[in-house]
Order: sequence, then C-alpha cells, then structure tokens
Amino acid sequence: MASSSDYDVVIVGAGPAGLMLALWLARLKIRTKIVDKRSVKVLAGQADGVQCRTLEVAHSFGFVQRLIEEGAHINEICNWTPAADGGLERTKRMPDNEPGTSRFPHVVLTQGRIERFLLDAMRDFNGLGVDRAVAPTNMTVDPALLTDFSPSSYPVTLKLRHLSEDEATPTQVGIANGLHRSNVLSDDEADAMHGTREGGAYALAGEEETVRAKFVVGADGARSWVRKQLGLSLEGESANSLWGVLDAVVVTDFPDIRLKSSVQSHGAGSILVVPRENDLVRFYVQMGSTDPNGERFDRSSISPESIVETAQRIFQPFKLDIKHIDWWTLYEVGQRMSPQVTLDNRVFLAGDAFHTHSPKAGQGMNTSMMDSFSLGWKIAHVVQGKASPAILETYGLERLKVARELLDFDYKLSRMFAGKPITSDGKPVSHEEFKKFYESIGKWASGTAVAYLPNMLVAPEREPRLAPGLPHGQRFESHAVVALADARPWHLADRFLSDGRWRLVLFAGDVREPQQRDKLEQAAAYLDSSAGPLRTFTPADDDLDSVIEVLTVISDPRTSVEPNAFPDVLWPPKKPYGSRSYDKLYADDSSPVTPNDRGEIYKHLGIDAKTGCVVLVRPDQVVALVCSLDDIGDIGSFLSQFMVPQQQ
Ligand code: FAD
Repeated sequence: MASSSDYDVVIVGAGPAGLMLALWLARLKIRTKIVDKRSVKVLAGQADGVQCRTLEVAHSFGFVQRLIEEGAHINEICNWTPAADGGLERTKRMPDNEPGTSRFPHVVLTQGRIERFLLDAMRDFNGLGVDRAVAPTNMTVDPALLTDFSPSSYPVTLKLRHLSEDEATPTQVGIANGLHRSNVLSDDEADAMHGTREGGAYALAGEEETVRAKFVVGADGARSWVRKQLGLSLEGESANSLWGVLDAVVVTDFPDIRLKSSVQSHGAGSILVVPRENDLVRFYVQMGSTDPNGERFDRSSISPESIVETAQRIFQPFKLDIKHIDWWTLYEVGQRMSPQVTLDNRVFLAGDAFHTHSPKAGQGMNTSMMDSFSLGWKIAHVVQGKASPAILETYGLERLKVARELLDFDYKLSRMFAGKPITSDGKPVSHEEFKKFYESIGKWASGTAVAYLPNMLVAPEREPRLAPGLPHGQRFESHAVVALADARPWHLADRFLSDGRWRLVLFAGDVREPQQRDKLEQAAAYLDSSAGPLRTFTPADDDLDSVIEVLTVISDPRTSVEPNAFPDVLWPPKKPYGSRSYDKLYADDSSPVTPNDRGEIYKHLGIDAKTGCVVLVRPDQVVALVCSLDDIGDIGSFLSQFMVPQQQ
C-alpha cells in the first residue's frame, strides 16, 4: 500500500534540471517530491543564456511569453579585434542564429527568473512546490524490487534531513547570503525574504524523514550527492582557465554594448559581452590559465575590482565605467562528464550532475533542462503503465551523446577564447579562423541541431527520405500552416504541447486527387480500427486522442476542401457533448490575416505535395519515424515494440 511518504519520483536538487523534471511530472500528475538543500532559489547571476530550443520547450509548457518579454534578445554577434592603429576594430557582424533556425529568439535572462517561471508553472499544473532546506543523507535500492513495476513497488528508499538555517543558506562569491536583491522582481520577493525569515522556516531542522520512491533523480549539480552514491565521478579535463563573471550596469562609449560581442585585445586577453535584462551587461573575462606545471590559480587575488580592471584594459581605447555590480563570481571548470547516468534505470542523473564545462557558450542551463525534458515523459509513461520500462534505456543513450558533443564543442570554444587563442591541437588562431569558428557553431548553440541516433524510440532513417527536413531523432522543425475550420494561422509545433501525447502528423498531400483521397481514407480506416495504434494504446474510457493525437495537413488551398469531407477519426467528436475537434485539420496555405505569408511547410520539409507522408512525433517533439501513407501500418508496429496495449 502506498503511504503519504511514497512517491513515484523523488528529485534531489531544484536547479534548472530538477525544476524542468518536476514541471513535466506536475503536468502529467505523477506523484513527485522535489527537495533542495538551499533555503532559497537562485536570485541573481549564474547561467543566463536561453537557447531557441529551450524557448520552444517553454512554449509547450505555456510560459514562453514571460521569457520573451523579460529577457534581452540576442539578434546579432560582433567580433572586435586589434586594429593596426593600436585600437580595436569591429571585424564581423553576423546574425546570432541563421534566419529560420527557430520561431523563437535567443534570449538572455538570469537563471533566477527561469527558475521562477518553472516554479510558477509547476504550481499552476498541480500545486507542486519545492521542499527547501532538505537534503538526503542515505539512499538504498532494493535489488529484489528492481524489475517489479507493480503499483505497490518502491525500490528506492531515501533518508532526508531537514537542515538548519546555517546549513541551508547559500553563500556565493561577492554576495552576502546569496540574497543580493537589486535585480529581484516583486514576484521573487517572497523567495528573497524566505532565506532571512526569523523562526518557522526551520522548525523541522535536524529532523529526519524516510521516503520511498519508484525512481530517484539526482539533479543536484556538479558536486552531486546522488552521483557519489552511485559510485560515479566526473571524468575528463580539469579546469585550465579561470573566468571572472560580472553582471553590471555600465556607462561606455563601446558601440556594441547591447549586442553579444567578443573582444580580443592587443595583449590583455579577451572578453565576451552579453547584453542582459534591466540594462545589465554580463562580462566573461579570462583571469588566468594553468601554468605548464599544472599549478592551481591564486583565486584569492581576484576581486570584482580586478575583474573590472582587466575588462577596462581589454576595452581600451573605449571607456568602461562600471556604475553598479549586480553579481559576480569566479568560474573555474574543465570539460568533465560521468560515463553513466543511471543505476539500473531506477536512479538517474540530470544536468550538471553528469556534465560540466565552461559557461561561455551559455549551454549548461539549457542542456540541463533538456536532459530532464528527455527523461520526464519517459518516466511518466512507465509510471502510468503506457510503455515498457525498457524505454528508460534511451535516456542514457540520448543524453550521454549530447553531453559528449557539448564537451567537445566547449573544449574548442574555450581554446578559441583563451588569452592567446589556440586551436584544439595547440596552434595559434588567426582572426579569420576565429570568425569562421564562431559562424560554424550557431546552429549547435541554438539547441536545435541535437540529433539522437536510432534507438527504441527513434526508428532508423528510411530511403528514399520522404521528409528530408525532418530527420529521425531531431526536434520537429516547425513552419506555419492555417486551420481549415477557422482560418487561424498557426506554427504547426505550437500544437505540440507538452502534455505527454504522441503526435501523428498526416501530411495528406493533394486530397483533391481521387487516388490520394483513397489513400487518406484507407489510412484513416486503419487508425480507426481496433488493430490500429489509437485504439490499441488508448484506455477504453479515455478520449481517442489522449495518447496519440492525429493532426492532418493537406497541401491544397484551404478553401478547396470542406472539413466535413474528412473521415471522423481525423477530427473526432469530443466528450461530453460530441462537438468536433476542429483543431486537427490544417492546410499549407496563407490565412486571410496573413495573405502574403504562406508557410510552405511541404516545400521547407521537402515533402512531396501530391503524395505527402506520415510523421510520428514523440511527446518531447522529437521525430520518431517518417513513412508513406501506404505504410501507415508501420506506425503501429513501431509503437508496439514498447507501448503497452490498453485494450484487448
Ligand atoms: P544546479 O543549477 O547546480 O542546481 C543544483 C541544485 O541542487 C541546487 O539548487 C542545489 O542547491 C541543489 N543541491 C545540490 N546538492 C544537494 C543535496 N545534496 N541535496 C539537496 N539539494 C542539493 N552557467 C552559465 O551558462 N553561465 C554562468 O555564468 C554561470 N555561472 C555559474 C556560477 C555559479 C556559481 C554556478 C554554481 C553555476 C554557474 N553556471 C553558469 C552553471 C549553470 O548555473 C548550471 O549549468 C545550471 O544551473 C545547471 O543546472 P542544474 O539544475 O543541473 O544544476
């Protein structure tokens, strides 16, 4: 029997990785407990870059608008290099992302605000909050229960201790108590106050509680306690350079202070400038490198003043007057990762707990959240009995590959940004090479190029490719379409909400052609049949679109086909009144409100406008399988490898 201290999932750590996982689980109503040893969330500083891909995911959870409105937008990058006259010259301007990379921009906003949005969304979905000032002291896994996925089986037991105020109050370099509040907005005030609240908050200090869980996830940062319990450590290059990071309000005559800019000086090192919200600017300043004998840096000599002085030397002849320092830190990390992310698919690691690297490319927070975005729905599918536990294997396969690529990318980037830039094989870098490298990293840095290899949840690519713009294992590339019923323009991926459902997109082609029309009707008949995947994997009492939602996109003009002409299963009646699902039918056409703006989704994705294709999309928006309408039976065969039939 489940008791009040039994959970489906216990998450240790409420940073970006832990909160993204908690959000998924809150959205899918999975019994979850999330604890953090700190009494208060991050309020200032730390990570700040939010990639386009992270905004796509934020959209799917409903909070993207907050990011767009509060964040600074990174649209252009500039490179400054030493000029012949001894000054600096702008040698390159380029778009931050190639046009068309994503329907969302790259924004910059303090980690504390991202955590705020995640916390608010969790609370809105099912009231889930973080148990703060709580840390685990012991974890055991019962080997006899590892393969027991019955509802009453809880193989992992955690002992948790409630911490005192001293233990739970974070200390950060340069910020007393981590409660620096100049950039704190009103909805963060309660968090800011929490850490200093007298009495009450630590009433349970010193007490222990025991909880049981089906799954435990260590999202507890680079010094992960959970990782240590698994006997794993981070392997790879240890730190080779020390960076000063400073968020400040400045007065300057440097013209690109509101653009992301890299500045290489004549001999004083290099700096990365990142415009931030609320008139802040972030500076990443290299403060030192390991000497050839591997001596450690003398961190004690570095202060905000010395970071400012170095920045001012790099910026000469431009003036840099620092008026207000919001946050600063020293950041010293190499490229390191754990070789494994799980113990028996019952305990997992996510985020910095299994990969750390330098902060310059703004990848840490994004990759950490994307780890959890990959994990959350898989755990939920298993807990809900929708899928076999075997799907959990794919988490490590997919995310370890991303972590390896991230470390490789960061290794090259770090050397490019070193005081005297060098390539990864140690040769000096010319300015031309520096520019070229910067141009080449854009797509990867946007998060949209992540590609998973074939696994249980990603079918091997088929030839000929029926949708070359939708490679298996990559996120669905969105383009605009128009709804048949109400002429509303949509980005197709706006319909892929993170609600745990699979999407089956029928690119039905030209359905005015009788032959194509027949194919669509046959495909619909299969989907409506008892042998089809909709009825097989959907519980009898649930809506037919509650596990797999079918969306149809025709290549014909919007007004050339009436919705009534489509088979019922493509726009099924909804409970309780039997009203039709008008939001399932689309055309590759412009809308009356955007007459000159046709999305041309068929053309962009390389899909034949006559014959179309079928695309199966996972709950995390990753393309699982593309096949022809004739082969739609392959969708059922693919899903039956891991989905659990709900009906006989
Ligand atoms: P974290 O954000 O580290 O979150 C881990 C959480 O787990 C924390 O809330 C912690 O309190 C909690 N925790 C840890 N141990 C336990 C335990 N035993 N029990 C309970 N809770 C526990 N990235 C950039 O891109 N740019 C930057 O300038 C930058 N600066 C940084 C400065 C600092 C001081 C730090 C610490 C990180 C910085 N980062 C920066 C990295 C970025 O913050 C991380 O990549 C990102 O936050 C990773 O998210 P995460 O959730 O995996 O880990």
